[in-house]
Amino acid sequence: MAAGVRLVVLGKQGAGKGTQCVRLSHRYAVPHISTGDMLRAAVRNKTPLGEQAKVLMDGGSLLPDELVMSIVAERLAERDARTRGFLLDGFPRTVGQAEMLEEELGEHGLDCVINLEVPTELVMNRLVTRRVCEDCGAIYSLSQPPTQPWTCDVCGGSVIQRPDDTADAIMVRLSAYEKETRPLIDFYAERGLLETIDGSQDPDTVFSATVSVITRRKEGSA
Ligand SMILES: [Zn+2]
Repeated sequence: MAAGVRLVVLGKQGAGKGTQCVRLSHRYAVPHISTGDMLRAAVRNKTPLGEQAKVLMDGGSLLPDELVMSIVAERLAERDARTRGFLLDGFPRTVGQAEMLEEELGEHGLDCVINLEVPTELVMNRLVTRRVCEDCGAIYSLSQPPTQPWTCDVCGGSVIQRPDDTADAIMVRLSAYEKETRPLIDFYAERGLLETIDGSQDPDTVFSATVSVITRRKEGSA
């Protein structure tokens, strides 16, 4: 079996992060740990954590770093993540979270941090035409719909436009992301972990560029 990997993937919404994360987690046989999906599931299933998160999010608050870290830490403690590694998507979001993650992982830290870089105009266009499976998070678009109209090819769930995928809402999120993530990018660059990939290329090219960067990293550390 191929070697595992310990990765963080950064990228603004619409950078193709979801697609690449799914492919990378299959390629390395590691769990794709998406904090967004975990939180949405917790809210949907009305778990105590989900209820707590919903109150905060409905009130417009960001979730405290400790809360998010504890969800992630729980997942990282499972066997697959301990033995093979993991791919973190949507976490860390802040330097505070990155510091907590560093502490959590200890001396065997990350192999690298992939930053998918895409110009804002391109991302905007991708996002307003994006459609997402409500159940499994599979991503489609107006130009690449599922085979059966708006029924997920993967799980049969409903494929919808997220209510917060309007142009105005997207713009707000993109500027917030930019502001929030810049320090995080600097944090990982300082540690020599950052790899920037041009995410505006077609998905196959982005994927092979990412795999070769990871291979080079792992060979370098072996
Ligand atoms: Zn689905």
